Amino acid sequence: MLAYTYIEKGKFGMLEKPVPVILNDGDAIVRITMGSICTSDLHIKHGSVPRAVPGITVGHEMVGVVESVGAGVTAVKPGDRVTVNVETFCGECFFCRKGYVNNCTDPDGGWALGCRIDGGQAEYVRVPHADTGLNRIPDNVSDEAALFVGDILATGFWAARISEITEDDTVLVIGAGPTGICTLLCVMLKRPKRIIVCEKSAERTEFIRMHYPSVDVVSPEKCREYVAGNSDHGGADVVLEVAGADDTFTLAWQCARPNAVVTVVALYDKPQILPLPDMYGKNLTFKTGGVDGCDCAEILELIAAGKIDTTPLITHRFPLERIEEAYHIFENRLDGVIKIAITAGTNR
Ligand SMILES: [Zn+2]
Ligand SMILES: [Zn+2]
Repeated sequence: MLAYTYIEKGKFGMLEKPVPVILNDGDAIVRITMGSICTSDLHIKHGSVPRAVPGITVGHEMVGVVESVGAGVTAVKPGDRVTVNVETFCGECFFCRKGYVNNCTDPDGGWALGCRIDGGQAEYVRVPHADTGLNRIPDNVSDEAALFVGDILATGFWAARISEITEDDTVLVIGAGPTGICTLLCVMLKRPKRIIVCEKSAERTEFIRMHYPSVDVVSPEKCREYVAGNSDHGGADVVLEVAGADDTFTLAWQCARPNAVVTVVALYDKPQILPLPDMYGKNLTFKTGGVDGCDCAEILELIAAGKIDTTPLITHRFPLERIEEAYHIFENRLDGVIKIAITAGTNR
């Protein structure tokens, strides 16, 4: 089968590999019908994910059809259409039982697919702990509508869930990239009084204005002043930092009102400075980290009910054979790209 592979730092390439087989009782083999490219794939390509293993098939956003399952799998069966979770988790350890699945202590736990074990920019993938890592897609939900459930939409949902948003709040979302938009959609479900999105790119600003007219969009230069003037207590009640740019962490806490929650979703290239003397007395609560992707079933229900729609994010479509072109567009942010659907199998 075709498998887009991390060859070495700076280089991915399409290889021919054997179709994966069941290795453990909890495994499932999934025939991939659609995948996508994530910014984290680019981080692997650029060598900034030290635990990524050269030779692995990349890709961790995908949907498909269960081809076969190990003896211990009970939640899915061959023929089921499924979303694949970016995180592998056992469901049984201390962290899993608390819902902190990103910190699952299983050897395969956390972000393994497309990083430490073969992922989904391929025709088939082996998914360990399939009972927790796969979710059945409701019949009325298309592959495109379900494509982001296991990764960036799970991230947005988790970020909105932990941010303690109320209907009285002014919420600031920094960054309108793919994960920023998914976060915005999940923040909207909480019905806060006002949502402000901070975005630098004119194209992405236009995208937000066109698709989500109830949301205010402001540039980073004007953000602090705008948020102060358009919130009830001199700053945002909740800030979600999803941009990960050079100055956006500083912007996040500066735009927050005293006693606000600041949720840091972004993955930074460099350490960030937490200037505690400057924020002394502001009494902020910071929440940080990587997604706990344990709400995929609920997210799929919300999609089936028409409450979340991420299909406008898919701006481009390419078959797996042409994934190199897709990477070029995604990496260089050409042609107004937000997300690219990579079609495989009979889908292409
Ligand atoms: Zn990702
Ligand atoms: Zn676990």
